[in-house]
Amino acid sequence: MLLFSTDIDGTIYDGPDSARTFSDFWNGLRSRPSPPLLAYNTGRSIDDTLRLISETHLPSPDYLIGGVGTEILHPETGQLLEDWTATLRSGWDVAKVESLVADEAEEIEQQPEECQNPFKSSWFWHGKTRQDIDRLQERLDRGGLEAQVVYSSARDLDVLPLKANKGNAIAWLAESLGVDLDRVAVAGDSGNDASMFLVDDVYGIIVSNAESSLPAAVSGARIFHSARPCVEGVIEGLTRLLVS
Ligand SMILES: [Mg+2]
Repeated sequence: MLLFSTDIDGTIYDGPDSARTFSDFWNGLRSRPSPPLLAYNTGRSIDDTLRLISETHLPSPDYLIGGVGTEILHPETGQLLEDWTATLRSGWDVAKVESLVADEAEEIEQQPEECQNPFKSSWFWHGKTRQDIDRLQERLDRGGLEAQVVYSSARDLDVLPLKANKGNAIAWLAESLGVDLDRVAVAGDSGNDASMFLVDDVYGIIVSNAESSLPAAVSGARIFHSARPCVEGVIEGLTRLLVS
């Protein structure tokens, strides 16, 4: 493994102890010859993630993918990777997305300002079915918007540029770093993680506390289903990969 892309909440983090557990494990890997790169891949914004890292034992990552694949930060230099952002612009119009979603969806509420970015329109929409999500996607398609709808935790609705998701972001990053995809591992627990598991050739770890929709969405040959929750499941999956 040369690159590990992991979701944070519910995957490696569910409180201070989990952060310490992950940090101990990862620092052990960093002391090995040719240590892998760590990329957090989260729905949180970049600023919110940096705050979490500073307040917990979570190790500093080599890359930070925030806002469900819409932003990639290289923390060492503090630079956003603008080449990635540039690939998201085509066919994207956030103002049009916002007005269409507000018109079409009932009982929907915009998430706070810090959850939005120029390539991510985020909403609370409780208890929706696959059909509700598909219907909204159809309306966006008919409106000529190159946008995709991602729904997680029976509550969080993100509308993103067609190309922006966690999977495309990590595939782009791996290519730009010259890392073959069969040397990439990913881990996650919810709907917005599915795209990571669907990247060809990657090794995937699904933790036992994952939403039931996740395994169903990503059935594939190189996926390890841990019987353990959160960070314990991630460590089990990585350990298996590293000894195999
Ligand atoms: Mg999660």
